[in-house]
Amino acid sequence: MSPISIYLHIPFCTTRCAYCDFNTYAGLENLIPAYVASLAKEIRGVGGYSVPPRMPGADGKAHGPSAHSVYFGGGTPSLLSVDQVAQILEAIRDGFGLLPGSEITLEANPGSVDLALLEGYRRIGVNRLSLGVQSSHPGELRLLERGHTFPDVIQAVLAARKAGFTNVSLDLIFGLPYQTITAWKESLLRALSLDPDHVSLYALSLEFGTPMHAWVGRGLLPEPDPDLAAEMYARAASLLDEGGFQHYEISNWAGRSGSGEGNGSFAACRHNLQYWRNRPYLGFGAGAHGYAAGVRYANVRSPSGYVRRIEAGAGYNYPVSPAVADQRDVPLSTEMNETMMLGLRLLDEGVDESAFKERFGVGIEEAFPKPMKRLQEDGLVRWDEGHLRLTESTIFIANQAFCLFV
Ligand code: SF4
Repeated sequence: MSPISIYLHIPFCTTRCAYCDFNTYAGLENLIPAYVASLAKEIRGVGGYSVPPRMPGADGKAHGPSAHSVYFGGGTPSLLSVDQVAQILEAIRDGFGLLPGSEITLEANPGSVDLALLEGYRRIGVNRLSLGVQSSHPGELRLLERGHTFPDVIQAVLAARKAGFTNVSLDLIFGLPYQTITAWKESLLRALSLDPDHVSLYALSLEFGTPMHAWVGRGLLPEPDPDLAAEMYARAASLLDEGGFQHYEISNWAGRSGSGEGNGSFAACRHNLQYWRNRPYLGFGAGAHGYAAGVRYANVRSPSGYVRRIEAGAGYNYPVSPAVADQRDVPLSTEMNETMMLGLRLLDEGVDESAFKERFGVGIEEAFPKPMKRLQEDGLVRWDEGHLRLTESTIFIANQAFCLFV
């Protein structure tokens, strides 16, 4: 049985950022202990009710399929104490088992970590830290209503290194209102001066219901300029290329840390590769999504509703738990489409023809004769040593290629 990945959603933040539409809540920190207990219960419940064969672990307990990556996302997972993260990892070991060398990532806000906390996370097995940097400019951080400063980022990276993290990823946002190319380059270069192992860059997206969306709607802020954002992306891609990073996914670059997944010693994120390869993952916690055993599902979004459902107890049927609010079977044709859309995001790896054939019993050209003809005629994709990849110029218009597989 191929290994799975496990996502844990931690829906707590001390304040809400102006652009954020994630499933996260400020002022609910008193719910954290009950929430962690429910997470552990949900994990053990789903693991214990794994589809056959139920696999006996080394300790004689029932285990679901073993995991090779775990990702604490949010929200702000660094609001959890070391003991709370340890309780969740223990439940994963009980329910599923963790393969040796598993990647265990925890997202952290630079202002919410110190050396003692990071040493504690490292001690219990967390081995990858993802820090939300977003910008190095105080004005931009204020506009985003982030609760940290760039000096906090520097301190967090230094503390992470001191605590023994050899895989540190930094996230930045571009295309902000009033942001210039010069300011964006400064942010990126300052982030790169911290020698990250991995970098994720996202264009600002104005989401309905966020304060920033309202400010733009009322004319208080200019609309983000998509052409300028494309220019920022292109400049960033060349700076990262000059810096020796591998652009392995549209928004992600891996440095040479030797501690990650992917080509050679590049530090690609194993957990996210699982999504892009359309391989199974389980999501636990409020609003978490999962995909396993041919089912896609989403848990109820409210943290207190989640705790209530898990406490009520009944309704485990791998991969779903009593917290699932929405589920659908994924037919084979949809799985094939999704494998193409997700796999083409991987710029180096693309979609592997032999893996596709092994999985679906049919080659890519045979499965998608019309879309493939169109993509090749328009020069949007190319074959390279048995892998179908986006061409370089297509990265900017990748959605045109993806929509052929919808
Ligand atoms: S810290 Fe992250 S999850 Fe929390 S409000 Fe800000 S952007 Fe959203």
